[in-house]
Amino acid sequence: MQVCQICNEAITNPICIDCLEQEALYWARDRDAKLVRQIKNLKKSFDVFDLNTEKCIRCGNEMGVCSHCFLTEIAKLIKDENLRTLFKKSFISF
Ligand SMILES: [Zn+2]
Ligand SMILES: [Zn+2]
Repeated sequence: MQVCQICNEAITNPICIDCLEQEALYWARDRDAKLVRQIKNLKKSFDVFDLNTEKCIRCGNEMGVCSHCFLTEIAKLIKDENLRTLFKKSFISF
């Protein structure tokens, strides 16, 4: 079991940020054009993290950070409170 390079928690539900980005962009596309650009920039900033041996359960790519850290950062980009709540409901289960 590998740990996330940001939060140091074990990656329990490994979905890589590439897969998450695609889903988040799909979600944002009809809702907030600015958010689409912000998600792309955020993804780029996450590319600096090293990959480790944990494999994404969707695409099989190696990954280095957990989905929770990436999704939490996206949620922070959403300024509209209702939209943010909706995003969390759709993507993050606390
Ligand atoms: Zn994490
Ligand atoms: Zn993936």
